[in-house]
Amino acid sequence: MNLYPQLIIDALKNVRHPDTRKNLVEANMVEDDIRIDGNKVSFSLLFDKPTDPFIKSIVKAAETAILTYVGEDVDIKGNIKVKTKEMVRPEPPKLLPQVKNIIAIASGKGGVGKSTVSANLAVSLAKAGYRVGLLDADIFGPSAPKMFDLEDARPILRNVGGRDLIVPEEKYGVKVLSIGFFVNKENAVIWRGGMASNALKQLIGDADWGELDYFLIDLPPGTSDIHLTLVQTLAVTGAVVVSTPQEVALADAIKGIDMFRSEKIDVPVLGLIENMGWFTPAELPENKYYIFGKEGVKKLADAMKIPLLGQIPIVQSICDAGDKGRPVALDEESITGMAFNHLAEELVKQTEERNKTREATKKVEVK
Ligand code: ADP
Repeated sequence: MNLYPQLIIDALKNVRHPDTRKNLVEANMVEDDIRIDGNKVSFSLLFDKPTDPFIKSIVKAAETAILTYVGEDVDIKGNIKVKTKEMVRPEPPKLLPQVKNIIAIASGKGGVGKSTVSANLAVSLAKAGYRVGLLDADIFGPSAPKMFDLEDARPILRNVGGRDLIVPEEKYGVKVLSIGFFVNKENAVIWRGGMASNALKQLIGDADWGELDYFLIDLPPGTSDIHLTLVQTLAVTGAVVVSTPQEVALADAIKGIDMFRSEKIDVPVLGLIENMGWFTPAELPENKYYIFGKEGVKKLADAMKIPLLGQIPIVQSICDAGDKGRPVALDEESITGMAFNHLAEELVKQTEERNKTREATKKVEVK
């Protein structure tokens, strides 16, 4: 069964609160925490008062609606949490309210092509007409300076409304800031404790990003404090996880996915990206060699019910383009350029889906 949040929301529109006569979605009673894990569905319902006499019967009716409208084999019994308004504290305000979509790009392992994918996605989105920012937050190996041919860039400060803000570099239609602009590239960077988190907060909050449609954050590989800092600082729309089809990479990708889904981080995974899916030599364009195993990321996406946003082959030009500072996505005619443009389209589609779900479950702000 292919379960996704909108199905649950649609089913809940069939349940009304006897007092208000409004359905649960209209009444903003469905929290934005719908989780789907195989056939198991869980979420919270928000009630005004803990003394509402209809709590039990509404929870029961919601379970029945899901079993009726979504499917009998959905595991929902006992999985609906009840919350009341006193329990829900308004979230502290987050930085960058003028940015529409904030996308975290992550990987379980280093070297799988996360930065290459981030740079190309940013360029493809900009070419499609979106206002795009890219923050290279990979403290262990910042690569945006090289990939955007900005190795000598030293961003200046601009006074905006009485504050000195860092001005992102602009290249190929993308506003770029990298932790690499601020460290000497000959010296390996050793970040202690909160240093990296603080630097990152500055690059987000003390920079003049302006209005953006997409703000992409190229995260360090694996799981770290940086990920936590990020969700505490920003209202992250969703994450994408890049992996090669190799088993050791997949095992780490699963850890990454689990981290985003954990209660502490709680960021929806919008999709997976398979990089280095196969190798095709230029002289034998019909031949595909599955060096790291065939379709491993696709299988993982199917098993974890996460959309696969795209599959990118190993191509010499992707590597060369990265080294020359001109992402292949700039070349629309090339097969690789088209692959990245397609990836960007899929990301936009999944982001818009996610925003629709969030809109439908948005609750009235608690005063
Ligand atoms: P990560 O950010 O995950 O550490 P990078 O994006 O820096 O990985 O990529 C690691 C290396 O692999 C770089 O040299 C990059 O140019 C190369 N690379 C990444 N994706 C591809 C690809 N699809 N085809 C060929 N080379 C690639």
